[in-house]
Amino acid sequence: MRDHRELGSLLRRLNGKGYGAYREIGGGWRFPGFLLFVDHVQGDPFATPSRLRVRVPMEVAGIPRDFYRNRSRKIALEDFLVRELARWIPRLTKGNRGSGHSGRFSVVAFGQCILHRTAVCVTEEHVEAILSVGLPAAGRRILGHEAAEMFLTELPALVRQALTFGSLDKAAVREHVACGEDAEALREQLGEKGLVAFVAEGAVLPRESGVSDRPLREGVVPFVPPPSLTVTLERPNRGPIRGMGIPEGVTLIVGGGYHGKSTLLSALAQGVYNHIPGDGREYVVTRREAVVIRAEDGRFVCGVDISPFIDNLPNGIDTSNFSTQNASGSTSQAANIMEALEAGARVLLVDEDTSATNFMIRDERMQELVAKEKEPITPFLDKVVPLYRDYGVSSVLVMGGSGDYFEVADTVIMMDAYRPVDVTARAKEIVRKYPLKRRPEGGERFGPIPRRVPDLSSIRARTPKGKLKIRATKMAIQLGNSVIDLSRIHQIAEVPQARAIGYILAYLSENARRFAGKPLAEILDRVEHTLEEEGLWPFLPARYGDLAAPRRFEIAAALNRLRTLRLT
Ligand code: ADP
Ligand code: MG
Repeated sequence: MRDHRELGSLLRRLNGKGYGAYREIGGGWRFPGFLLFVDHVQGDPFATPSRLRVRVPMEVAGIPRDFYRNRSRKIALEDFLVRELARWIPRLTKGNRGSGHSGRFSVVAFGQCILHRTAVCVTEEHVEAILSVGLPAAGRRILGHEAAEMFLTELPALVRQALTFGSLDKAAVREHVACGEDAEALREQLGEKGLVAFVAEGAVLPRESGVSDRPLREGVVPFVPPPSLTVTLERPNRGPIRGMGIPEGVTLIVGGGYHGKSTLLSALAQGVYNHIPGDGREYVVTRREAVVIRAEDGRFVCGVDISPFIDNLPNGIDTSNFSTQNASGSTSQAANIMEALEAGARVLLVDEDTSATNFMIRDERMQELVAKEKEPITPFLDKVVPLYRDYGVSSVLVMGGSGDYFEVADTVIMMDAYRPVDVTARAKEIVRKYPLKRRPEGGERFGPIPRRVPDLSSIRARTPKGKLKIRATKMAIQLGNSVIDLSRIHQIAEVPQARAIGYILAYLSENARRFAGKPLAEILDRVEHTLEEEGLWPFLPARYGDLAAPRRFEIAAALNRLRTLRLT
């Protein structure tokens, strides 16, 4: 392997040449204290920046094994190091120097969650990090001296500062790792305690704004658990913690408008992920298999059995194998539930703000006016109990607008000026006092859960010219020539997860034969297993640093919205 001095003289020699000559720096270089791999060299200063990988041997990085001794610690440590790189890049590198991306180092963007990222990987042998760099140029002429400074001065300083234990803020790294491990441990305890979620005392649930996931700073009412729902869970690092446990079964969140109902539900939705210290939701945890359900009119649906909720459509369409290019509010919400169950959901999170009214309720008077034979929809109200009884799937519903749900609820929590109150007994008393004449319409059983066999070759990740094309934003994934609408998928925490979903779908399409004849749930099991054992690498064509592991539910959600999807 060539060494860093050779890289320096090569770069100076390239000064003034055409940009394409940068190709010569591709490959491995030995630096004092680390190895550098130039994995991809951009073709021009405006193209996607070049990709670097630095590998610091553990003897040099010196991170005690304790910080990565189990999976949750390792993921949190890696997440911390990504944030360190991002923090130090603007301080230790000059940045912009020339045309296009010239002179800029960067690392993947991130938010409030501790996620399993590809940007940093810690093993017993080394710490490896993936960075992007814009190789500097004036116009299309190589700025060789600038490049030499970037590689020989800035990069080593960055590696020393952000990737070696000696320079890290020990308290901060310890806190980050403990926080990730504690949240994971809390989530593990939910099942054995018969809970679907836990919200710690003192948690800060509201966010800064509708477009920022950071905590609200002013006028926050910290979370106070109601005494009757208070439980104490154990944290391996920080000891016992009190909070509100939401039991399995059917839970209603009621209360006046603007009293914090949706904020609580959103926090529960994000509680499937771990959060960084200072987020306010560090110890708000929800069962891993909790899925947000909403109406999503206009969405594509491919061969889903929605008959538990919808049958007898006026056009005679078979709802046990329902497809549409343009679902209505209620049919989309039904499809969202059935698909979530197919993918293995154990908890449904539903907010009235984003639900179809006629899917949620059908009251006494409407039953009188519109006969059951004339109404294809069986409201969720009549299915929520059979769903729990038959399949053990719990529901948490924000429902400020209809008391009909008191009948079916096991727990009723009222948000009162951002403070939860257990009003279960009062709600049950009201049920006795004002009995409904409403007739249940859902039958005794919930009905079958879909078990579709997708034809993975109907995923087209390549353009007609055969080029793999994967782009992602918060709103959509572009896969080949198809666009998958993600704008109403609430539990994708970050764009890097969306990007990873794109690569996983591409992988499934390229390996369609291996999965042929397998039901979707089984395909998801396999993908999830690989993610846990080997991370994202097996799904990627190269060492990309801008990805984070998604959940199985969002992989399924993206596949289900891919308009080219076919079943076998
Ligand atoms: P609801 O769904 O009951 O109508 P929201 O959850 O949308 O109410 O909350 C209304 C507003 O109150 C939002 O702007 C939210 O950020 C804010 N909010 C929610 N919880 C708190 C809290 N604990 N402290 C301060 N503000 C809060
Ligand atoms: Mg609301």
